[in-house]
Amino acid sequence: MELMKTGFNPDELALEETLFHVANGYLGVRGSLEEGCPEGVQTIRGCYVNGFYDTVDLHYPERLYGFPEKAQRLINLPDVQTMRLFVDGEEFNMQNSEILEHTRELDSRSGTAKRKIKWRTSKGIDVSIYIIRIASFARPELFYTEYLAFNDDFNAPIMEFELVSEINCNVFNFSDDNDPRVASEKIQHIFLDNAEIVDDVGMVQCSTGASDLKLALCQYLHVHQDDDKYKRVNKVTANGVETRITIKTKGDRGLLVERLVTISDSRRQEDPRTHAWQVMEDSIDMLDNKAVESQLQEEHSDLLWDFWVGAEIQIDGDRDLQKSLTFNMFQLLQSAGRDGITSVASKGLSGEGYEGHYFWDTEIYVFPFFLYTQPETAKSLLQFRYNTLDGARQHAVIMGHKSGALYPWRTISGSECSSFFPAGSAQYHLTGDVAHAFMQYYYATDDVTYMSESGLEVLLETARLWIEAGNYGSDGKFHIHSVTGPDEYTCCVSDNYYTNRTAQHNLLGAVEVYSRLKEAALHTTTVAKINFNEAELEAFTQAAEAMYLPYCEELGIHAQDSTFLDKPIWDLATTPKEKFPLLLHYHPLYLYRYQVCKQADTVLAHFLFEDGVPEDVMRRTYMYYDKITTHDSSLSGCIFGIMASRLGLTQKAYEYFTESVRCDLDNTHGNTKDGLHVANLGGSWMAVVCGFAGLRLSKKGLSFRFSLPEKWRGYSFRLQYRGSLLQVNINKQGGDIKLMKGNPVTVFVDGVELRVGE
Ligand code: BGC
Repeated sequence: MELMKTGFNPDELALEETLFHVANGYLGVRGSLEEGCPEGVQTIRGCYVNGFYDTVDLHYPERLYGFPEKAQRLINLPDVQTMRLFVDGEEFNMQNSEILEHTRELDSRSGTAKRKIKWRTSKGIDVSIYIIRIASFARPELFYTEYLAFNDDFNAPIMEFELVSEINCNVFNFSDDNDPRVASEKIQHIFLDNAEIVDDVGMVQCSTGASDLKLALCQYLHVHQDDDKYKRVNKVTANGVETRITIKTKGDRGLLVERLVTISDSRRQEDPRTHAWQVMEDSIDMLDNKAVESQLQEEHSDLLWDFWVGAEIQIDGDRDLQKSLTFNMFQLLQSAGRDGITSVASKGLSGEGYEGHYFWDTEIYVFPFFLYTQPETAKSLLQFRYNTLDGARQHAVIMGHKSGALYPWRTISGSECSSFFPAGSAQYHLTGDVAHAFMQYYYATDDVTYMSESGLEVLLETARLWIEAGNYGSDGKFHIHSVTGPDEYTCCVSDNYYTNRTAQHNLLGAVEVYSRLKEAALHTTTVAKINFNEAELEAFTQAAEAMYLPYCEELGIHAQDSTFLDKPIWDLATTPKEKFPLLLHYHPLYLYRYQVCKQADTVLAHFLFEDGVPEDVMRRTYMYYDKITTHDSSLSGCIFGIMASRLGLTQKAYEYFTESVRCDLDNTHGNTKDGLHVANLGGSWMAVVCGFAGLRLSKKGLSFRFSLPEKWRGYSFRLQYRGSLLQVNINKQGGDIKLMKGNPVTVFVDGVELRVGE
């Protein structure tokens, strides 16, 4: 059990809704209370389908050329959580009822969220309620709830149990005027088109206000009782559908209901109604087969079991950290779109923060986790970028470029959704981050077929962008001006070190993959499609070789950009605690004028691109930025931890890791109610694999550099590489790598070549 909470604290409900949400990459349901939220308590009662959005107008008092006019927003879908229980006519709720016990659990092995309640009715009868929820990995369109309520007193008189379950389309998105990280206006996005009852299945169809997308939902309640022993009433309501089950029963018998909700949408299906119905019919067939343990639960946990076999991490010596890490990995699994038309939103499917947008978080923080544990998912995340390449081409044109592809800073279906360009569209590095993910996939899998079908086109188009965006200066160097690096407290600068390194890597990667595919004659379709001229390769190589990488001789460090080190240093030591995060208390321009970082920038570049950087430069750079970084973004601490490991600062690495791995569990950023910090979840996994175990992947191959935190006896993890499954074990005596499945592979440990499995 990775997470368990006992009791009921109304102030933590919204937070728990995030922590106990269930999702499967397609749909996500927050862990709201089935019976409804007590009055005056904050709740974000949400249900989402990955990438299912509405469009909203963006308003600017001074709208300049190229500012996006519309943005996409992940929308809250009809409420599918409500199940109200009545015992002898008395309604159960957490507000007026006497609650003797309340426990919530999240179990990442079975993939279930559970609630257990003991409720004493006003007549003094103790009723036990057990609820299990699943967002099925086996059937992504299925949200499943098992609801059991009974009285454990054998001598109790006959009682009436009634369960009312509904789908309600009268819903809104959460909004907060004072927090730029969530939507600011409350708008209704989803409208009911039709509700009907067919063969005891309640069906609802709705559409979005502006994006013209359609959604269909079905609900069916399977009652574990002979047909003549209960009553079922289905009805169409003003906002959807409702099913009411009534049972009169004696003693310790009560009511056991399996509730199925299926959802389908017009971004994936031509006819969502038929599709939702079909999945419902298939799921109902599974129910009929077994009475006690549902096969729907079994097939879901079987898939999870397969996942854990290939992804297991063990920490010997710290069970709590091990559990926290397992929680994080499970959340990553819940968050990732796997259909090539969606990706991983910065909050996954756990909440509405950042409006369900996809950022660079996926490629740099989440992608590595999938690359080594579920390469098929990694590939579908790349496919999302391939499928939105046209949007990136159009964005490049809007930004004044004659060719190439510039990926938008935040998006759902491919267009730029950021209305604040200094910390938005100006983050050109995202394009290099996408290219980096393609290159990592190529190195990890050697999947030349995929590279020829999709990878090459992305690499060439993104490489073209850098030729467009940069220019040669009088020093003969290639410079990139007016961009923002990852650190959003420093915007629109020249030669951001991180950006220039990603650009360089992108340019060289395009040349490398092109040459490899050309040898195999796998390049021709792409060349014809994008009208590629081999002379461009020369331009790519030249620009990469001449790339300007700011370096300060005096300090012996890489400068974040060409002017960063000339600014005054922000005094973090005397800044009052309540002024953090700085972005909520200072005007952006004020922040831009100081040496103060929201998050890892140059240090992140040293993690991703360490080639050619001497260790002493890396060390001094790390020490310098460590002092001026606030970690106001959750994308930061994990990277500082990884680099601390790289530099042998294992204790520091351990401190960063323990902070990062508990970020959502301890709500350290204070806003987990709006959703998980998904990039950090991936970062905490990387902190072990790339941090303590020192994994890097480049043209030279897969390498490790083991270290072990003092407090641990050892740790081990599994990963997939070139189709083989490896297990890495590290303990006080050293480390070894075993081949668990597949063919022998070559890796490097501390620079020494090792053949694993021979
Ligand atoms: C960070 C970005 C990140 C975004 C979404 C911001 O606070 O500065 O780097 O992409 O959050 O997670």
